[in-house]
Amino acid sequence: MAERMVKCYGKDCEVANVKHPSNIMTKISGKNYCPECYAKEMENRRQRDKLYSYICEVYKTPFVTPLIKKHINDFIANGLTYKRIYALIHYCYTIKKNFNMPDMKYGIMTLGNYYNEMLQYYAEKKRQKEKNKGKKNLSRTIAIDSNVYYNNNYKKNKLYDMNEENE
Ligand SMILES: [Zn+2]
Repeated sequence: MAERMVKCYGKDCEVANVKHPSNIMTKISGKNYCPECYAKEMENRRQRDKLYSYICEVYKTPFVTPLIKKHINDFIANGLTYKRIYALIHYCYTIKKNFNMPDMKYGIMTLGNYYNEMLQYYAEKKRQKEKNKGKKNLSRTIAIDSNVYYNNNYKKNKLYDMNEENE
């Protein structure tokens, strides 16, 4: 008997209206995903949760407010990724001089004003790094700047992500 064909809720498949045999599908929140979209969706959720927990750290709050979530979704709708929003907050919070984070009750939308500045900062950093090839300490400053304690694994991930932003 032929396998039943079902819809995938992954963005790429949904747009192309691709269907897959039901036996290869995995459910997330009650919706079917093909293996490829499943991996993407899980990674996406991991990045989102990482961003949320970073915001909790920055604002010393146990949860991300609905307004901040809304602003994150607005950034995403404007083409940013969770990783880039993370990088933007990190830039404003730990790197930008003489800068106070906006009060949580106003959300984080205004940080978008510094997005280009952040890109320039990392582009310049990358240029410097290439100039100093062989000296390996430059990228470490990012993790060490932060006054919050992380376990080593997390520190490594963070470093990796920030470096990736430069590529
Ligand atoms: Zn799919």
